[in-house]
Parts: sequence; C-alpha cells; structure tokens
Amino acid sequence: MIDAADAADAADAPPTAAERYDFRSTPYLESLLRGREPDDPLARQFLPDERELHALSYETADPIGDLPFSPVKGIVHRYPDRVLLKAAHSCPVYCRFCFRREMIGSKGDALQGAELDAAIAYIASHPDIWEVILTGGDPLSLSRRRLADILDRLAAIEHVGVLRIHSRVPVIAPETLDESYARTLVRSIPVYLAIHANHPDEITEEVVAALARLSACGVVLLGQTVLLKGVNDNAAVLDALFRKLVRLKVRPYYLHHPDLAPGTSHFRVPIEAGQELMRSLRGRISGLCLPTYVLDIPGGFGKVPIGPSYVGVKPAFGPREVMDYQGIRRSYPE
Ligand SMILES: *Cc1c(COP(=O)(O)O)cnc(C)c1O
Ligand code: SF4
Repeated sequence: MIDAADAADAADAPPTAAERYDFRSTPYLESLLRGREPDDPLARQFLPDERELHALSYETADPIGDLPFSPVKGIVHRYPDRVLLKAAHSCPVYCRFCFRREMIGSKGDALQGAELDAAIAYIASHPDIWEVILTGGDPLSLSRRRLADILDRLAAIEHVGVLRIHSRVPVIAPETLDESYARTLVRSIPVYLAIHANHPDEITEEVVAALARLSACGVVLLGQTVLLKGVNDNAAVLDALFRKLVRLKVRPYYLHHPDLAPGTSHFRVPIEAGQELMRSLRGRISGLCLPTYVLDIPGGFGKVPIGPSYVGVKPAFGPREVMDYQGIRRSYPE
C-alpha cells in the first residue's frame, strides 16, 4: 500500500532520462530497434540513458549559440549570406545527443501564423540572404501542404537563390516520404536536402527506396553525420556509411563533432580521435565519400573545419613539409 509520504517521495523523485528529455519513436524506428541491445549503435542514438542526467558544467542549453543570433523568432542569422529558419518545433524521434534538446519538442513552440509571417518578412527585407536553411525541429515532419506553402513563399523572394533542408526523416520515417511528398521539395530554385545519418545500419531497404524517390525528383542530396562514441567512432563504420551514401547519390557534407548539449558527454570522443579517423580515411576511400570534419564553436562563433592538417608551418629557410596520406613527410618548395 502507498501512503501519503511515499506518494510525496515519488513526486519528488528525480526525473528519469526519458522524463528530463523528450522520448519519441515512430513505428518504423520501433521495428528497426526491435531485438537490439541497449548498447547497439542504433539503440544508443534513440533510447534514453540515465547518463543523460549528468550534465557537465560547460554543457549548455544553447550549445551553438542560436539565441544571441536570433533577430526574430524562428530565425538564426549568424553568417552574412544565409539564415536558419526553424519552422517546426518537434521531430518524429529525438536523438539522445541532440544539440537543441532544450529548445525543441515539449520545450519548444511552433511558429504560429503571424510569427512565420514575421520570419519570412525578415528574410524578404534582407537582400544579403542568399540561402535559407530549414532545420530542426525536423522540417520534413511538417505536413506536405504546410511545407509546400513555406517553400513557395521562400522561393518567391527574389534574392533567395537556394533552399536547404536538414532532416532525419529519410532514415527514421522513410515511408512518409512518398512520391507526392518528394515532389513537394521541387521548386523553381534548387533545394538541397541534407540527410542526418550516423550508422550504415540506418540505411535499410526502405531508406534506399525513399532516397531513390527523392533523387528521382532532382533534389540534391547531402549527408550529415554526427561523430558519436559507441556509434560510429570507428573507421570501418564510417567507411561503410559514407560509401553507402555515395552509392545512393548522397554526398557526405559534414562530420560534426558533437555539440556540448547537456548530458551528452558519454557520446563525445576527443577531437584528436576524430582527426585520427579522418586521417585514416583520407586517401583510402574516394574523396567523394569524405565529409569535412567540423566543430560548431560554443557561443555562436560558427562552424570551422577541425582537421586534421597536413601542412607544416613555413620555415624561415628551406621548403615546407607536407604530410602525405600515408603519414610520410614530403617537401613543398615555395
Ligand atoms: C550550421 C549553420 C549554418 C550552415 O552552415 P554551412 O557551413 O553553410 O553548412 C548556417 N547558419 C547557422 C546559424 C548554422 O549553425
Ligand atoms: S533530428 Fe536533429 S533536431 Fe531532431 S532530435 Fe535529432 S539531432 Fe535534434
């Protein structure tokens, strides 16, 4: 029997990881995860883990500094020629390492009609904005009609030359991207779609079919991958993932060093480990398969490539040293 004191204790009990950070799944993802152990590279990405409750002092709710660069709700304008537009506030599933875990899902709110109008008006009134990037919450979780409306309004702005969408939907709910949804992405200006995929096992037959529908429409496909401990911090896994993507006409674009989101330290490897992985791939697999390894500097200072570097400093006398892909020093006279 539960008495009043016990009930009060239960109410005060610290939240579990699934309570602290949203948990959500799709029927497709459930079938994909069925029978996998908690430490499986796919399960790790989506199933709550109590280690998420241990936030480090330097992990923050806004790890890449979206807020200081948000002139109006839903817009992040950090670089001169491009903005992020966050039209959706949720994702069909939540990655446990998500960099916006304190801003989306139940912690976020969708852009209401007038707010969306204001965000689009901001873009229309800034002629330097050449590219609009729709990003998380997942833009492809929007209804087809709503997405079509947003893309139409953006494509109609004269100075907007390119649209880009970052999405996890192709790998966590591929069946929702049917032909009519895929055709929605075709506009009068090019639409680039960056697909977030972290492990070769994410590329199932259903995903292959969804990617084929998308590229058949003429959408340009890019890949973005987050480097994650216990998921893909391994050259063979990255090799298999990048080759699979390129075979499906998805060009790997960025390998992201994970951001300092609260309770995600168990996913991070040292930057040196990421550089070593990139070094071991360079030259051994086609350059088409190699993304740029980037870090988003905390505080909103933007993304930078973080190597590895092959170029030595220029000496006062004599040729500079450059390392080849096998690690042998060569000289480059200038
Ligand atoms: C990542 C990001 C972009 C896109 O950067 P690219 O290097 O062009 O892919 C644009 N704006 C913000 C605020 C970003 O965080
Ligand atoms: S898809 Fe992107 S925005 Fe959505 S939960 Fe995953 S990392 Fe976060």
